[in-house]
Amino acid sequence: MKTFSKPFTLQEPIPEAGIARAVEIMRSGKLHRYNTEAGETAEAALLETEFADYLGTPFCLACASGGYALHVALKAAGIQPGDSVLTNAFTLAPVPGAIHNAGGVPALVEIDRNYCVDLNHLESMMRSARHRFFMISHMRGHLADMEAVTQLCAKYEVILIEDCAHTMGASWNGKASGTFGTVACFSTQTYKHMNSGEGGLLTTADPQIMARAIMHSGSYMLFDRHGAAPAADAFADIRLDTPNYSGRMDNLRAAILRAQLPLLDDNCIRWNELYKTAEAGLSTTNSIELSHRPDKETYVGSSIQFRAASLSDAEEVQNFVDRCMQRGVELKWFGSLDPKGFTSRFDSWRYLGTPPELPNTIKILSNTLDMRIPLTFNTDDINNITDIIKSEITA
Ligand SMILES: *Cc1c(COP(=O)(O)O)cnc(C)c1O
Repeated sequence: MKTFSKPFTLQEPIPEAGIARAVEIMRSGKLHRYNTEAGETAEAALLETEFADYLGTPFCLACASGGYALHVALKAAGIQPGDSVLTNAFTLAPVPGAIHNAGGVPALVEIDRNYCVDLNHLESMMRSARHRFFMISHMRGHLADMEAVTQLCAKYEVILIEDCAHTMGASWNGKASGTFGTVACFSTQTYKHMNSGEGGLLTTADPQIMARAIMHSGSYMLFDRHGAAPAADAFADIRLDTPNYSGRMDNLRAAILRAQLPLLDDNCIRWNELYKTAEAGLSTTNSIELSHRPDKETYVGSSIQFRAASLSDAEEVQNFVDRCMQRGVELKWFGSLDPKGFTSRFDSWRYLGTPPELPNTIKILSNTLDMRIPLTFNTDDINNITDIIKSEITA
C-alpha cells in the first residue's frame, strides 16, 4: 500500500540573503525599528515601502501579527464599543478574536459552496440591521465576487476591511486582493505566503487611518521613521488621542521578509502548479466535490479544499481522515465538532454567546476537508497524495 512521508507543515528555508541580512542586524544590535542613526532607514521601514509598492497602495504598516493588524485596522477605522462587525462564518479564530478585542460584536454571515461569503445572506443582514463594518476573510484563498462585495458595502455604508492572510499575491479581475477594502491585513506567520515566524502587514490608502494605525502600533512620537506613511500633518491632531497598543515589527523579521518579497510572485506560480495537479488528481472521482474557481479569480493555491460527497456522516468523515493520516496524508476537517489544531468551527467560539443559525455553513463544512500544499512538495508528491486520498475515500 502506498504511503507518504513528507511533513505537511514543512516550509522552505529563508533565502540566504535574508539570513545574511538578519545576521548583520544581530551583529549591529539594532533590532528595534526605531533604533536608527541620522540618515539611516530601518529594515522595517524599508519593508513597508517595498510591500506598499508591491501592492500598489500608498501606505503600509509592519506589525506583530496578522491578528494584531486586524485589531488595529478596526480601531484605526473608528470602531466604537458594541459596534457590529459582519464577517464570514468560515474563517480562522483570530478574526472573531480581533473583532472581540476591538470591542466589536461579530455578526456571522453564511458561506456558499465555493467557501466564499454568501452574498444574498450578506445583503439580507446589511438590510435588516445596522452594521458599521464588514471584515471579509478571504478564507483559504477563496475570493468572493469583489465588485459585488464593494457595491453592497457602498450601498449600505459599511466599511470594508479585508483579511488577506491567504490571499497575499492573489487578485480579482486583475486588481490585487487587499486593494478593495478601506484597510487590508496580511499575515506573515510561518504558514502563510511569506514566513517570518510571526508578523503582520496593514495597508490602506487613507492617510488618517494609517496615521492612527501607526500610533496604535506603538510608534511613540517616532512616526516620521516609517516607510510608507502619510506626512507629519496627518498625525498632528491624533497623536495625543490614540492609544499605544504596542505591537511593532522588529528589524530581524523585516529583513527575513524583504528577502522573500521578490520571490513571492514566482512562489505563487509554484503553488498554483501544485494546486492544479491536486485538483486534476482529485477531480477523477465522483466521491470528491471540488469548488468552482471563477475566471476573474487569480488565486494562490497554498491549500486545497474539497467535499467528501460520498461520506454520509461525521463518523465516516472522521474514519476517512484517520485512514489518510495512517498513510501519511494530513487532512483537516473543518466540520469537526471538537476544534483541533488550527481548525475550529464558528459554534466553538463560545465567548460570542449563543451561535447563530447558519445551516448552509454547517452543511458545507460538515464534509469539507482541507489540505495544505507546502512548497516543499513537488508534483510527484501531490500525485502520490491524491492517489492515497482517492483510494481511501472509496475504501
Ligand atoms: C493566520 C490567519 C490570520 C491571522 O494571522 P496571525 O498572524 O496568525 O495572527 C487571520 N485570518 C486568517 C484566515 C488566518 O489564516
